Amino acid sequence: MSKIKGINTICTHVGELEDKQFKGAVSPLYMSTSYAFEDVETKRYPRYFNTPNQVSLAKKMAALEHGEASLIFGSGMAAVSTSLMAFLKADDHVVFQDSLYGGTSNLATEEFDKFGIEYTFAKDAKAESLKAEIKANTKVIYIETPSNPLLRITDMQAVAQLTKEHGLVSMIDNTFASPVNQNPIDFGIDIVIHSATKYMGGHSDILAGTVISTEENIERIFQMAKNFGGSLSDYTVWLLERSIKTMGIRVKAQNENAMKLAEFLNAHTQVSKVYYPGLKDHPDHELAKKQMKAFGGMLSFELDERINASEFMKALELIKPSMSLAGVESTILLPSQTSHGLLSEEDRAKQGIKDNLLRFSVGIEEVEDLMEDIEQAIEKSK
Ligand SMILES: *Cc1c(COP(=O)(O)O)cnc(C)c1O
Repeated sequence: MSKIKGINTICTHVGELEDKQFKGAVSPLYMSTSYAFEDVETKRYPRYFNTPNQVSLAKKMAALEHGEASLIFGSGMAAVSTSLMAFLKADDHVVFQDSLYGGTSNLATEEFDKFGIEYTFAKDAKAESLKAEIKANTKVIYIETPSNPLLRITDMQAVAQLTKEHGLVSMIDNTFASPVNQNPIDFGIDIVIHSATKYMGGHSDILAGTVISTEENIERIFQMAKNFGGSLSDYTVWLLERSIKTMGIRVKAQNENAMKLAEFLNAHTQVSKVYYPGLKDHPDHELAKKQMKAFGGMLSFELDERINASEFMKALELIKPSMSLAGVESTILLPSQTSHGLLSEEDRAKQGIKDNLLRFSVGIEEVEDLMEDIEQAIEKSK
């Protein structure tokens, strides 16, 4: 396909397999782990990432992110770890931005020493702060935007330029934005990673990951991936293809709800602060406008100090407490007790994560019902 198609057309059609035998409406599912041998180059096997359903979904992923090629993984972390390891060896160095998904920070702090890989977390997510950490042996700059849980925005174009000047590889975790709202390759980023568990799956029932880049980069990641063995079962690949068909309309509904809720919370007398890149007073609003198509379905907020955030969460009836995010159902958590619970209070304060900060993953429910739920929970926990 030459021209880039519209998002919903890509979601519903790109890569689909044809049911030649029965002319069914959807891609057939090929569960075989064994295929007739054709030649050494093309032997098919699920761990070689080349079964019919994997190849088909990879085409959709590549189209979604305006890349040339893609691989589908068994989890977001399999995609993150395999991509990083494919571009790093002993004595190499990677610069990470400050706030990253916990699993990614843990990969560095718990595993990299064993492999002799050096890493630095920059003091924030600004391009000049990342630049300040570049050393002679730096190979990769790794970013995540919008970040969790404060929704700070990293300037993708500035990072891409920086990596090109220094001959480095840029990688981004694009999970929070989803390909509906942000396409980093258009801004010059080399490698785009998603936890497909989130917006791509969208129904809180699939664990998966993906990486999208040039043919050349994906070939390099594949060489590592086949040895690490992190491919996804074809059954789940097939389910993920089905989920992605509605990703465009799901995420657009989540964007709209999140924008309305951010404004509602911002105007609420019992809410002291709202973090949403779509709000004009968000510190990175202008940058977000430049590089995002819409501002996403994630937002965070702090309640007035007189309200106990745990009590508030318990009082919610519709919005569920949950560790994960991006499902069609609205979920909420306290980062200080969950995702950032292992950090010291001091480290949390340094990152600007207050104990009463709530992270809200906005679903597709009617926004009035979500507002009413928040209102009654505030009343109950005042
Ligand atoms: C969930 C998540 C991951 C990890 O994905 P898994 O599918 O749980 O392995 C990575 N990055 C971000 C931003 C995430 O939200």
